[in-house]
Amino acid sequence: MFVQELVLRQRVEILHALCSSGSAEHLEQVLDILLSQGELIFEDYQNIQVPGRALYTNARQLLDLVHAKGGDTCARFYAALTQVLPEAQRAGFSFPGRCSNVEENEEHQSTSTQTLLAQRPSLVSELQGCIEDALRALVASGHFTYADCDEVRLPIHTPSQQARHLLDHVRSKGESAATVVLQYIQQKRESGSLLNQGNWTPPKEVLKYQKKLSSSVSAQSCFLRTYGGTSHMSLDDIYTEGQLELAHNCEDVHGPLGLEDIVGTAGTVNSEADTVLVSGDAGGGKSTLLQRLHLLWARGAALQDFLLLFPFSCRRLNSEQQELSVQELLFQHCCWPDREQEEIFQFILDHPHLILFTFDGLDELKQGFSDEHWLCCPTQRAPVHILLFSLIQGSLMKGVRKVVTSRPEAVGPALKKHLRKEVLLQGFSPSGIDCFVRKHHCDPTVAAKVLESLQTNTTLLGLCHCPVLCWIVSQCHKELLGCGEGSPQTITDVYLMILQHFFQHQSSLKSTTGSGWLQEHLNTVLHLGQLAFEGIGTSCYIFSGTYLEACGVTEKDICMGFLIQSKDMSSTHSQRFEFLHMIMQCFFAALYIVLSNNTHSSTIPKLFEPHNMRETGLRSSACFRACLPSTDQQGQALKEEATLSETPNMQITATFVSGLLSQRHRSLRLHCCPSAVMEKRVRQVARCLSKGMHKHFRSIPQPVEGEKKSMHAMPGFVWLIKCIYEMQDSRIAKDAMSKLEVDHLKLTYCNIGPVECTALAYVLQHLRNPIGLQLDNNSVGDVGVEQLLPCMHICNSLYLRNNNITDEGICKLLAKVIQCDSFQKIALFNNKLTDACTQHFSHLLKTRQDFLSLRLGNNNITEEGAKQLAEGLKHNHSLKYLGLWGNKIGDAGAVAIASALESSTSLVWLSLVGNGVGRAGARALANIIKNSTSLEELWLTENCITRTGVEYLIQALEHNTRVKSVWLRNNDLSLEEVEELRQRESRLIF
Ligand code: ADP
Repeated sequence: MFVQELVLRQRVEILHALCSSGSAEHLEQVLDILLSQGELIFEDYQNIQVPGRALYTNARQLLDLVHAKGGDTCARFYAALTQVLPEAQRAGFSFPGRCSNVEENEEHQSTSTQTLLAQRPSLVSELQGCIEDALRALVASGHFTYADCDEVRLPIHTPSQQARHLLDHVRSKGESAATVVLQYIQQKRESGSLLNQGNWTPPKEVLKYQKKLSSSVSAQSCFLRTYGGTSHMSLDDIYTEGQLELAHNCEDVHGPLGLEDIVGTAGTVNSEADTVLVSGDAGGGKSTLLQRLHLLWARGAALQDFLLLFPFSCRRLNSEQQELSVQELLFQHCCWPDREQEEIFQFILDHPHLILFTFDGLDELKQGFSDEHWLCCPTQRAPVHILLFSLIQGSLMKGVRKVVTSRPEAVGPALKKHLRKEVLLQGFSPSGIDCFVRKHHCDPTVAAKVLESLQTNTTLLGLCHCPVLCWIVSQCHKELLGCGEGSPQTITDVYLMILQHFFQHQSSLKSTTGSGWLQEHLNTVLHLGQLAFEGIGTSCYIFSGTYLEACGVTEKDICMGFLIQSKDMSSTHSQRFEFLHMIMQCFFAALYIVLSNNTHSSTIPKLFEPHNMRETGLRSSACFRACLPSTDQQGQALKEEATLSETPNMQITATFVSGLLSQRHRSLRLHCCPSAVMEKRVRQVARCLSKGMHKHFRSIPQPVEGEKKSMHAMPGFVWLIKCIYEMQDSRIAKDAMSKLEVDHLKLTYCNIGPVECTALAYVLQHLRNPIGLQLDNNSVGDVGVEQLLPCMHICNSLYLRNNNITDEGICKLLAKVIQCDSFQKIALFNNKLTDACTQHFSHLLKTRQDFLSLRLGNNNITEEGAKQLAEGLKHNHSLKYLGLWGNKIGDAGAVAIASALESSTSLVWLSLVGNGVGRAGARALANIIKNSTSLEELWLTENCITRTGVEYLIQALEHNTRVKSVWLRNNDLSLEEVEELRQRESRLIF
């Protein structure tokens, strides 16, 4: 009775402990435990966990139910609370006597479904690191459809919620699905690490060290840094899955990659190498992704094959002046063992496969990667960058897995050859943006308003694919919702918005309204700007008090929140600061270049030609140089050395300089700097952009006779386009494009996402003659496609192979291009198209009698889609090339297409490779051969055509001399049949 009463009396405290963090995790863990013990039945669970209902209401419902079930249930409930809640949260209320730790239900379970329920708490924890693999097992066994998988992986759910959804879904599928999950988990346990094998356990001292290391890693990674200045935001509450993709196409990997796939075997290109590279743009979420991995590991929820994980920040390693051995590097920079250092280090050397190193921000290291000098001996001391490069290439501590993050620009061929694989982090997907905004705002009406305003400003929505910009937009929601017409268009606009937001929120002064706010805070801007500018010139991202003093940064400036205290695992240093994010440092550097009276007139030209820096020096001023450690040789050398990492930062800074000097921010600059100086700077930037563009155009080779003049964009071209966009001056765009005379512009593998598409369209729309625009292998997506629309009138062909485009994006594109007279060709191989878009293609074909080429290979088009397409083909008299390779149109689809094309006089090339076409399809296709006066090549490789089918084709070929080849490799034919048929018709190719 007593415990039951306690539940009533402590109701408020219990609710507070369970719900005050805003996260449902504690409540859900308690439910897991009670379910596993049979205290709750599944129907109870469903009554409590009502989707979309407030967390507090769910918790109240649980309390009511527990109370109603009586004393025993209440006692178990308290025991579950003890296990789940952190100590600090338990302090608010008393517990009835001793609450022993909860054991999982050990009773014998006769069915897999019962086992699933009884082991629920541990299964949730084990599954959350390997959801994708478990889903694969369920799809492979036929228990789950892709729609089931999508429901489980909804990005709004945390990994543990995804695990619970998976279990709940499996439950509804019945006993055999439950068995599959249990078998999968069993296999994982068995094939897992050494850690799980037999009775082997690591030595006691190592386990103690592991505990210390993981609690330190956990403490370092549980909050997100960008929220440091404003509010603490736990990573659990805000983390949103980014889009991960392999850099190299890999046959065996389908669907999105999960976090654990980063270190898993999927997509390995060099199994000898130990280093995995995660590359992505600045602000794209690389550090946050590592932070998530660290946290999951520290909690035992992921990467459990690794006993020890050592996280490093290259930014922090920059300030290591001493030569170190690997042992010193690990212990001093990550976690110091209380005892037995030698024994622990020996263990690390003896068990490399149990160790994981992560290096965040290789591009921020002062020295660019080189494999010229390397070490093999783990006890030898060396400068930190040599240690790091030796670890990455595996000359040192071979077998230890390393995960390195970097911006793609800073990854050269020297590093690439030492990579096990490369994973691209491509920011948030559209549903990721949605999910992030909802997590960021606890008030759902605010979240809905922000999302609504993003939908009306697709340029801004495009920017939000980059997580750091999504954060800014969410952070500044009040400004965003209030600004109507003038809502941000460029990256500079977005950063100006956060500048104003921080000033208005953190300044005790009453803020000026209108455009005077920048002038009001000019001193702070210039102090921080100088610090940022000098730092970028010397690859310095962490600043001691001496640096701050040298640039006049005051306490008040620090309080604005743009600088945060630098965290250091070794924590031996005095207080040091860094900018909230690297891009923020670039932004302040740009503000300094634009607004300061002290910069040299050559600064802007040098900024736009970063490779000239070495000779001319956008280097540190005397005062800053004095702060650098001049006594030791290494520091001295660094002062002289221009590095790889500077180029991307210089480029980002230059982009901001262009944006800040845009005409639209003129009133903001007013009174901050003499207008004559400002006008001169504007002219300088315009000149630099024009010069830069022309340099690219001069590099275009003359075409070989009969071929089109084509330009393959060099690195830097897209950057210049982005700078022009930031300036928002159509005269500059026009001027640049007036000199571009090519027929084909190739921008493949250029990291083009929605943001780049906006800039490209802005500039390319001023081209004088139509071009072919090739954007294959980027991450354009639906939002990017929408951004490209303004330049479609100047495209005669568009190549968007492998770009994550769905029906939604393609429908918008087709609605536009149908009105563009020059538009004649489209290639969409390997996207996410389904039958839902084929009627729009059909409409295009019917309407446009000058359309030439339609390539839709490797999408999800079935018989239905083929029938829709056939409708359009029937009425079209111009199409020459039709590619449907790798869809699923089957015999019925082939029959529909064939009958539509039977009397075509334009079709030259048709591919139905890999479409499940059999005898009936072949028979129908034979009719095209029989009647066509234009067809030259027919591709039917990888189908299921039998000998009878081929006979139809042979008969048809007898009446046709125009067809040059019919490709029939990998069909249902024996070797003998192939030999015989080849003899009979030499145009059949097997
Ligand atoms: P990078 O290391 O690629 O420059 P960061 O990881 O520092 O990018 O991300 C910048 C900011 O963007 C973070 O501080 C955070 O506010 C936001 N962010 C990035 N990735 C995520 C994510 N997966 N979930 C939630 N917020 C994120």
